[in-house]
Amino acid sequence: MNKTRIIVIGAGIGGLAASLALQRRGFKVAIYERAAEIREIGAGVVITANARKALRDLGVDEDLQARSSCVPVMRWGNYATGETLREILNATIAERYGLPTLQVHRADLHGLLMQAVQANDGDALHAAHEFVGLEQDDDGVSVRFANGFADRGDVLIGADGNASTIRSQLFPGEAPSFAGQVAFRSLIPIERVPEQVLDIGYGLHAGPKRYLMHYPLRGGSIMNLIGVAQSETWQEEGWAIPATNQEFAESFAQYAPCFVDLIHKIPQGQLFKWGLRDREPLANWTIGRVGMLGDAAHPMTPFLGQGACLAIEDALLLGRAFAASSEVSEALRRYEGARKERGNRVQLLSREEGRALQNPEKTRKPAMDRGLLAYDPVTAEV
Ligand SMILES: Cc1cc2nc3c(=O)[nH]c(=O)nc-3n(C[C@H](O)[C@H](O)[C@H](O)COP(=O)(O)OP(=O)(O)OC[C@H]3O[C@@H](n4cnc5c(N)ncnc54)[C@H](O)[C@@H]3O)c2cc1C
Repeated sequence: MNKTRIIVIGAGIGGLAASLALQRRGFKVAIYERAAEIREIGAGVVITANARKALRDLGVDEDLQARSSCVPVMRWGNYATGETLREILNATIAERYGLPTLQVHRADLHGLLMQAVQANDGDALHAAHEFVGLEQDDDGVSVRFANGFADRGDVLIGADGNASTIRSQLFPGEAPSFAGQVAFRSLIPIERVPEQVLDIGYGLHAGPKRYLMHYPLRGGSIMNLIGVAQSETWQEEGWAIPATNQEFAESFAQYAPCFVDLIHKIPQGQLFKWGLRDREPLANWTIGRVGMLGDAAHPMTPFLGQGACLAIEDALLLGRAFAASSEVSEALRRYEGARKERGNRVQLLSREEGRALQNPEKTRKPAMDRGLLAYDPVTAEV
């Protein structure tokens, strides 16, 4: 099996983590990414113990922790006053699940994974290659790219995100739909953050049909801000559609003045919006020599903050499945068997949490209360 050549489409967090997990087990990987420059967007991501255990196995957790924030307290607040309603201590999480939760700049996590992949194989990554088509037979998989390039490997892994072309080709007619939610995101220099918000630090404030979340990144030098609001329509595609402070503030006008003030402190050109996408869980994540992981396999709304964490778990289990198998079909069967139930379940739980999160009357049940952090991808059966 160590002669197996694996093609990965998509150099996001999931694709890079999977490539690293496979390389570390002796496999040759070629990664193709459509973007001309391989990088992550400027935004935060919360990485919990379940994913950190996989990152530790991949050799990047220690460096990630050094670059991240690790707040002592996470607070859920009253959207109209800012008053704290519930506190979750990171020390309690660490005691229960072995590691505390990190608040991470996406570019830091992505950069560490990319460096490690390149250190293993300087020729593994290919930017500006947009995957457009595949054909598989008994001996391998052929792939084609928009620039005319073609390649052939023993296995193809689709890590091409929630609008996955690989998924559309394996399951034609199954398209993503608008989830009825628009998200705003920004990074704000800490010196611009109002004092009341600074004192809260990590805060999640559920309001009517919307929620606002902020947490510090890079040891507290930046505040990550996300607002998600229900909306009936959405036209544009993309993660980086510029938005104005005014439209964000108007959408959150019922929030306490410190939060509206925070929105107005966003530096010009630093606010973006996008329409959230949702898809139904799939009965199969693999067909023949082609498999999927991360958002391609289980695209989820962000309400449990577990999409990237699950992509990292998938990555490690994919590497472990290949290392434990003597044939490609066995490896993909082991991988899907180990991951599908959890991925599909969290997809549905995220939807459920979204309904509670945007209704202050409903009881929230975050990832920790649902037992999701207890999963250990290093020891899980594969
Ligand atoms: C508002 C919001 C907040 C979130 N917060 C959290 C959080 O706190 N914690 C958490 O765990 N998760 C969070 N998530 C979820 C997380 O961002 C995603 O689940 C994660 O980024 C998925 O990684 P991925 O590698 O599967 O896909 P992506 O990051 O989408 O990467 C896919 C890659 O494939 C490339 N690609 C696409 N099509 C092609 C093609 N045809 N050919 C070649 N390349 C292609 C893309 O350019 C991209 O680089 C959040 C999501 C949102 C929307």
